[in-house]
Amino acid sequence: MARSADPIIQIREFTYRYPAVEPGGEPTTALDGISLEVPAGACLGVTGTGGSGKSTLCLALNGLVPHATGGTVRGEVRICGWNTKEVPVARLATRVGLVFQDPESNLVGLTVEDEVAFGPENLGVPRAEIAARVDWALAAVGMQDARGRPSAQLSGGQKQRVAIAAVLAMQPAVLVLDEPTAQLDPLGKEEVAAAIEGLRRERGPDLTVVLVEQDPELLARLADQVVVLDAGRIVLRGPAREVLTRVDALAAAGVFAPQAAEIAERLNAALGSDLAALTPEELEPALRARLQGGRRG
Ligand code: ADP
Ligand code: MG
Repeated sequence: MARSADPIIQIREFTYRYPAVEPGGEPTTALDGISLEVPAGACLGVTGTGGSGKSTLCLALNGLVPHATGGTVRGEVRICGWNTKEVPVARLATRVGLVFQDPESNLVGLTVEDEVAFGPENLGVPRAEIAARVDWALAAVGMQDARGRPSAQLSGGQKQRVAIAAVLAMQPAVLVLDEPTAQLDPLGKEEVAAAIEGLRRERGPDLTVVLVEQDPELLARLADQVVVLDAGRIVLRGPAREVLTRVDALAAAGVFAPQAAEIAERLNAALGSDLAALTPEELEPALRARLQGGRRG
């Protein structure tokens, strides 16, 4: 049993190899000696190039790695104290909800309210409680007005919000989002980002979020901690502000820094200044102060 002060996610020296795709082929090491702790209520941002292990990490959090994928594991992943190797995926699903990148793959093709009721129905939750959960989960992502619509008719951003609601209806402690906005247009992206923000405000320490994201602006906005994966290893980690302003180290791992951080870095090189910013809103006053200081001097 986990003590309440324990981190909700505890990963120790976790190495995972997928089985060889072809007989006689080599297994693929997708995660290589990962150690990570995430406290309850945090939003951990995970980034890295394609193939760096982000999706495998997501699957390891809900037990599909290794239960569904086979392969070999060293080290351990614990969620709420449960060792994912020892607990069946169906049981882990009551603690960890996973939303994938492809809006179509998250939904089964029912009406919005049936999509959201699907999970709790499978868990055997009593009918009256299912109705309450559906109401709450749809409101939490701003989709209550679409409850009677077929999910197939929704926009990408709406589908992803319904997918998040469907997972929330299982009342997980951990919400894992694997590039939830990668296939969305700017409006859809904004809808999903706002839904994640609202959820975190509402649930506070009761919901821990793992957000895999390639968009540095979104990481800067949503994540408190960031890890950068490269070839299955964590190559950078720390508070979002520290990691996302390390423009050169990010580039070395093949990922972009937020634009404001990039501009600050270039100005620093040109002006000998020490500007640091994650967003344009931060960069503007810092730059103004620097320029005014320059005029006075
Ligand atoms: P990302 O999500 O960062 O793009 P993945 O976790 O999907 O990375 O993949 C990590 C590595 O594992 C890659 O080398 C990828 O080719 C490999 N991989 C992913 N899924 C499988 C699989 N089902 N079987 C074998 N290798 C896989
Ligand atoms: Mg992936």
